Amino acid sequence: MNDNFSSSNSSTADFLRIAVQKSGRLQEGSLQLLRDCGLNFSNGKDQLKTQSNNFPVELLFLRDDDIPQYVEDGVADAGIVGENVFIEKQKKNALIRRLNFAKCRLSLAVSRAVEYNGISWLEGKNIATSYPNIVRDFLQKNNIKAGIHEISGSVEIAPGIGLADAICDLVSTGSTLLSNGLKEVAIVLKSEAVLIGRPGLPTEKQQVLDKLLFRMEAVQKARNNKYILLNCPNEAIEPITRIIPGMKSPTILPLAKEGWSSLHSVVDENDFWDKIDQMKALGAQGILVIPIEKMIL
Ligand code: ATP
Ligand code: ZN
Repeated sequence: MNDNFSSSNSSTADFLRIAVQKSGRLQEGSLQLLRDCGLNFSNGKDQLKTQSNNFPVELLFLRDDDIPQYVEDGVADAGIVGENVFIEKQKKNALIRRLNFAKCRLSLAVSRAVEYNGISWLEGKNIATSYPNIVRDFLQKNNIKAGIHEISGSVEIAPGIGLADAICDLVSTGSTLLSNGLKEVAIVLKSEAVLIGRPGLPTEKQQVLDKLLFRMEAVQKARNNKYILLNCPNEAIEPITRIIPGMKSPTILPLAKEGWSSLHSVVDENDFWDKIDQMKALGAQGILVIPIEKMIL
């Protein structure tokens, strides 16, 4: 079954082979991240694989569930999958990097009619899931004995048709649960896309991977930060600098208007709105916020 990819032509033998999802929720984010890292390649539609024309990487397009096995077997050197799939498959792969997209959670849910009073409610019950290994571990850790009914799709209908008392499935907004008369009662695992890899790559491939990881770091940092420019009275420079210290320190330029300066810095996306409020209170005006493309410390 691996033959699709094993007969490589010799010129790409040193290429780092990265498996990405062929279609689905991970595909766009995976390809966008690689493109933001500067890799050029044609789109994967209806292709089994493609090569970058400016970086020694070959992409293999696969079902996400198959990626950990392909990586373990060495057909691919690395892969992008949900952490949920990485953990469930229990292959000999390493988690190389969290990628900060495709965030979701694997949760337990029960019928809304159930008076759920904590994890012990599950004792002796039946749980339907596509993640039997993760659920088994979770139950063990919580000292609960319950049946696990493995099904591969449409897990959310299981309680309604009498197949199980509870389900364990991926949730992002919870709207699927709601429309099936279910309620989320416990989070089993928080997940995001991760880069996984096979330990012990040959030196040339490891060098390509290291180069790619350096770029991913720069891209992910940039995504989490914004460049900020603002005008402030000179006496506010010091307190504002304490709020947005930037990478080393902010750039300060005098304005033509006496007693005023322009201050340039970098701010973390997550506490951006809080900081804006604090700076406005200190007299900041004309605040501009600009996306950063790459960020190298
Ligand atoms: P495939 O055909 O490749 O097997 P699939 O149907 O198993 O695809 P998708 O639904 O595309 O998989 O989900 C792929 C991964 O995306 C999941 O394993 C999970 O990590 C993540 N994911 C799933 N649901 C969501 C969601 N609602 N929001 C964000 N990420 C999600
Ligand atoms: Zn899948």
